[in-house]
Amino acid sequence: MLSLKTLIKTDFETRTNAEILPRFTLIFIMKKLNELTIKEAYEGLKKGEFTSVDLTKACLERIKKRNKDINAFVSIFESSALAEAKKADEIIASGKQQILTGIPFAVKDAIDTLDLRSTGSAKILDNYVPPFEATVIVKIRAQGAVLVGKNNCDAFGHGASNENSMYGHVANPHDLTKVSGGSSGGSAAAVADNQCIFAIGEDTGGSIRQPASFCGIVGLRPNYGRNSRYGIMAMASSLDTVGPMGKTVEDVAILMEVMAGQDDKDATTIIDKVPKYSKNLNKKNKFVIGLPKEYFSVQGGSVSGGEAEGMNDEVKKIIENKIETIKKNKSLEVEFKEVSLPYTKYGLPVYYIIVPSEDSSNLGRLDGVRYGVRSSEAHDLYNIYAKSRGEGFPEEVKRRIMVGTYSLSSGYYDAYYNKAQKVRTLIIEDFNQAFAQVDLLLTPTSPFTAFGIGEKKENIMAMYLADMFVSPSAVAGLPAISVPCGKDSKNLPVGIQIIGPRLGEEKLLNFASLVEGV
Ligand code: GLN
Repeated sequence: MLSLKTLIKTDFETRTNAEILPRFTLIFIMKKLNELTIKEAYEGLKKGEFTSVDLTKACLERIKKRNKDINAFVSIFESSALAEAKKADEIIASGKQQILTGIPFAVKDAIDTLDLRSTGSAKILDNYVPPFEATVIVKIRAQGAVLVGKNNCDAFGHGASNENSMYGHVANPHDLTKVSGGSSGGSAAAVADNQCIFAIGEDTGGSIRQPASFCGIVGLRPNYGRNSRYGIMAMASSLDTVGPMGKTVEDVAILMEVMAGQDDKDATTIIDKVPKYSKNLNKKNKFVIGLPKEYFSVQGGSVSGGEAEGMNDEVKKIIENKIETIKKNKSLEVEFKEVSLPYTKYGLPVYYIIVPSEDSSNLGRLDGVRYGVRSSEAHDLYNIYAKSRGEGFPEEVKRRIMVGTYSLSSGYYDAYYNKAQKVRTLIIEDFNQAFAQVDLLLTPTSPFTAFGIGEKKENIMAMYLADMFVSPSAVAGLPAISVPCGKDSKNLPVGIQIIGPRLGEEKLLNFASLVEGV
């Protein structure tokens, strides 16, 4: 009888051999190594069915084959990844394997990685090699996970299509003429295209959930303060979060267990004990799920620069069908209840005042003086700033810095930033009163599926409207997940968003695990 290892080595050429098939674990027969989930890879490594070097090579080969078309990676660390994989195999052989030991993963380029180039997908940091590493990445690598590369993203997280990267756009693996979503578009595309087993993204106002939805994977924005942001390139400090992107809810739960927790290097981290998320999945508790009526009645509207798209009918239908399927599933005790979040319509305007304001302050540190790229044309102090920033930031980042500088300036602060913060409190109150009646909220992640490359690039408002369902929960600091829930008639993935109450990731992940396969 052929060993499973041999089967894998022959790249499944034997997979159609009916005589052999029944003798092996189905999962390893059906999937290539790079297609495995964390859980499956962990089991295979544990049993010695394959090595971390095999697994890492499978991912690196996939990256090499696809990066010219998809462009999910700005940097690929082939030799260091193989060295890390070899080390992981030694750890496994010594009996000290942990859940992420030897598992290949990728990191959004707006997250610092020790001694490994981290550009934020902006030319101003083209040559930046951080002398330190983000806490969440330290935790993941301490288990022996293998870092295969850094993912392309919208520069410093600014965008919803990955077209604001200065290293080219990221194509959607389901249709190369469509965007991957953004800003963690490279991470979502890399996971969806099996170029890595999981990825770590950043979500200020949807950047994990929206690309996860466009690419058909699972992405979790944790509660604000649940995961340390130390080493995450700051965008809007009162909203920034870092979270997991994976192939299943279980993988995302596993990652949260490793990533979450208080960190002395980030004063905003929460001291609460981190729950055992992965041990609390698929529990058939009773759930009351709120359907916010404002999310299901969004109309298209006229905005400057053209007609904005409201909720796409097909997306709406797919979400409604999912709700019906969950309702009809006898093994689940889920009750749906309509709720109202009247301040939803202010979520996006509030977001697009607060974020540029905080952006304009955070991005001030990138000036071509201390680190990063200084313009070769700059010969005096003014031009060191003006030309280095002019050449190093893409248009969208410049736009945010200008809007933010305006809204923070004397005479306008109260009218814009301060007012937005007050409305933010009303949005938080909205969610509080909803969560007094229901356990979780269910909404579409995005009003539409992946749009064409270039389609919204010139229409700034239309691009901002892509965030309409993901920004309110971010403004409120709440946890939210996007889970795949089918495909539209163009074969593009649709995601449902589940929003949890404050620090409600455990309940949220449990419910997500129950409805994931339904
Ligand atoms: N589309 C949002 C924006 O451009 C997403 C930002 C984020 O979550 N990093 O601001």
